[in-house]
Amino acid sequence: MRRTKVIATVGPASLSPEVIAGLVDAGADVLRVNCSHVDTVGLRDRIRLIRDVRPNVAILIDVQGPKLRYGGEPRELRDGDTCEFRFGELGLPESRSGTDGGLRPGQRVLLHDGRIETVIEAITGEWPDGTIRVRVAHGGSLQKNKGVNLPDTEVSGSVLSDKDRADLEVAKTEAVEFVAVSFVQRPSDVEEVRGILGPTAHVIAKIERPQALERIDDICRVSDGVMAARGDLGVELPFQVVPAAQHKIARNALRNGVISICATEMLESMTNASRATRAEVADVAGAVRDGFDAVMLSGETAVGVNPVRAVEVMTAICEAAERDVNLPAIFADANPATAAVTAAASSLARRIGADALLSLTYTGHSARLLSSCRPGAIIIAATPSDAAARKLRLVWGVHPVVAERDQDVEVAIGAALATARTRDMVRRGDKVVVCASRLSLRSDADTIWLHIEP
Ligand code: PGA
Ligand code: MN
Repeated sequence: MRRTKVIATVGPASLSPEVIAGLVDAGADVLRVNCSHVDTVGLRDRIRLIRDVRPNVAILIDVQGPKLRYGGEPRELRDGDTCEFRFGELGLPESRSGTDGGLRPGQRVLLHDGRIETVIEAITGEWPDGTIRVRVAHGGSLQKNKGVNLPDTEVSGSVLSDKDRADLEVAKTEAVEFVAVSFVQRPSDVEEVRGILGPTAHVIAKIERPQALERIDDICRVSDGVMAARGDLGVELPFQVVPAAQHKIARNALRNGVISICATEMLESMTNASRATRAEVADVAGAVRDGFDAVMLSGETAVGVNPVRAVEVMTAICEAAERDVNLPAIFADANPATAAVTAAASSLARRIGADALLSLTYTGHSARLLSSCRPGAIIIAATPSDAAARKLRLVWGVHPVVAERDQDVEVAIGAALATARTRDMVRRGDKVVVCASRLSLRSDADTIWLHIEP
């Protein structure tokens, strides 16, 4: 069974019940809706459609945040020219009215998704009609709606626009499992979103700004997960440093015991073709070796020619790549007390060549601890809660089952094994390392059993 999880983005090419079912049946563990391409009512409709078609799949909504887009008329920018933009034209949102948005002379303004590079010479006035004068370092033709990036600017104020806030309300009322926040700069950006959502959804910080990469450890500490958002990250940083950056993101997430996602252009050529390039196959395998919990498909499944095929290719690459990956005990070494029992279960499973681990978990916390130890075998996580089971679908190596949790832990283990048996997760003769809490139903796992399936 596959341990690396797959996220597929739902878009115009995959909005029918047939394709949604096809994506999940081909192995997508989580379906993503990108709020940049849908209004708030459309977002709610998409969430409900997914819930209707496959009620057990997890849903991730990706909130746009301060993704800036050029709103002016098309222009030709030549190397060495100076030209002026109004604040509003660069898409700086209204909520930053009365500020200069953190812009200073000498900072770069990248236009057309990074293809055009300019440097600020002077700033006059304020949003929306104040002007920013720039000198063009690398010119090109600038078109409307293309992304604007400010790699040197620490943007002040909230990362959330009014639309983002409305989208977050929908995420909350529809009880989605995961919310990803774009262009996070600092831990407080994540805390702001969590404050709005409450405890229901897990919050994923998208690492796509240099400021966030520098603070990756602090951001991991307040997030449930982080995403290497390589599209914008590769614009804001030189593209050649993206591989090292994604490795750093994966390793920091693992040390902190939070989920990590590798995103963008993973099987890009499959947006238009039915085969992946060898370089793309190597990229996905590299993400598996980096230790990410999940790999993500964007345009490939949202607007691609064959979304279901893209998921099939992704799952096949992950399965092949993880056969010879043995991840170091980064989490257990960094958290010896928190990981004491789960790390012991994990190394026992490795030593005896166990076929599976079984974690009895209420909220999913114990199963996540076990996953962070990156054991060699799959983790069957038994929880009495459908919602906790859905959230566990994004966690490396975890295959959730919903089973009743009796007060008597041995009865509860029996019920979990019975459910796993009906799903063909355990077979005759299998060695299963069981990890659960015997002392109190709701505390972390404190006991390890060895079960041989009769
Ligand atoms: P986006 O985020 O698709 O919302 O831009 C991912 C990325 O930038 O890689
Ligand atoms: Mn992005």
